[in-house]
Amino acid sequence: MYFRDLHRQYLNNKTNIDKAIQTVLDNTDFISGEMVSQLEEELAEYVGVRHCITCANGTDALQLALMVWNVGAGDAVFVPDFTFFSTAEVVALMGATPIFVDVDKKTYNMCPLSLEHAITRVRTQGKLNPKVVIPVDLFGQPADYARIREIAKREHLYVLEDGAQGFGGSIKTERACSFGDISTTSFFPAKPFGCYGDGGAVFTNNDEWASLLMSYRVHGKGSDKYDNVRIGLNSRLDTLQAAILHEKLPVFEELEIKRCNEIAYLYNNNLCDAIITPEVMPGMESSWAQYTIQLSDLGQREHLLQMLKEKDIPSMVYYKKPLHRQIAFSNLDNTEEDFKNTNILCDTVLSLPMHPYMEKQEVLKICEQCNNIISCK
Ligand SMILES: *Cc1c(COP(=O)(O)O)cnc(C)c1O
Repeated sequence: MYFRDLHRQYLNNKTNIDKAIQTVLDNTDFISGEMVSQLEEELAEYVGVRHCITCANGTDALQLALMVWNVGAGDAVFVPDFTFFSTAEVVALMGATPIFVDVDKKTYNMCPLSLEHAITRVRTQGKLNPKVVIPVDLFGQPADYARIREIAKREHLYVLEDGAQGFGGSIKTERACSFGDISTTSFFPAKPFGCYGDGGAVFTNNDEWASLLMSYRVHGKGSDKYDNVRIGLNSRLDTLQAAILHEKLPVFEELEIKRCNEIAYLYNNNLCDAIITPEVMPGMESSWAQYTIQLSDLGQREHLLQMLKEKDIPSMVYYKKPLHRQIAFSNLDNTEEDFKNTNILCDTVLSLPMHPYMEKQEVLKICEQCNNIISCK
């Protein structure tokens, strides 16, 4: 059994994907081929925003957004403490200061109340200028944009949605990657909507930012790539990856998201009460980048992890270490008091196998094993 079975995914779509790859080879337009702009139009339409600008990966996508807003030294950027490193890495890379915000224990996403406290703290200290908040759609569930956008508006912050794990999720009728002033995603193979290499995209409704993004991703180009009007990056999506994503989009929309939700439902209904199952808030839909349960404490989590391993059931801990405790951020002064929920989650979460090509029997087997190991009453 695989944690996320990309082989099964490929085999299920092999004919179309092989053909798409062959077409790119026949056309030999490997960089910025026609398929890239076609895919950008399709993704913009799927998400429901005016512009999609693809790029090399989800980390670059975040960095490109910060470049558009001129984020740099002296700026405070608010990021959840419980997320993948990239979300805060790009902030530091731009010379700005990441301010870590505790998360909600139920949704795993940025806690709006903790965000307000963090903003107040930064304003009181008076050293940094609060500029951007980066809510993450962790494990596939959109962050609490209703409340976060309200705070951001009041505090004059830009909202950058990190939808690397959220693509395919929604709030009511609106799709993930449309909730930020700028939103980003990643097409890393194991993400909900993955290609077969690295890839990423930036989404926005703002025309001016869209044209800046197109410039920044190709060496700060002006009229062409040899006319350079600003310092940029080399961050493009390969035509091969675009062709693969183009083939996968209808399958993702019509089958994969539905399947993941069915599997989550099966898990929810077959894991015993001693195991805390993930909660999706009313009106929201998750893209199920991860199916993440909570155990009672570190000992129980490590026990379950070990025992599942012995039964050849893969499981992963996302994430073991909060960002505020990463060595790379040890220059920032943080107090443990501010990260109570993240600290607990890092000790108690466990992600179980989740992908659209899992069979019902596999899910039931995992549930049975988990229930036995935890010895549910
Ligand atoms: C994967 C991920 C990224 C980075 O995406 P890459 O394509 O690997 O660069 C950023 N943020 C979050 C939350 C992620 O999970």
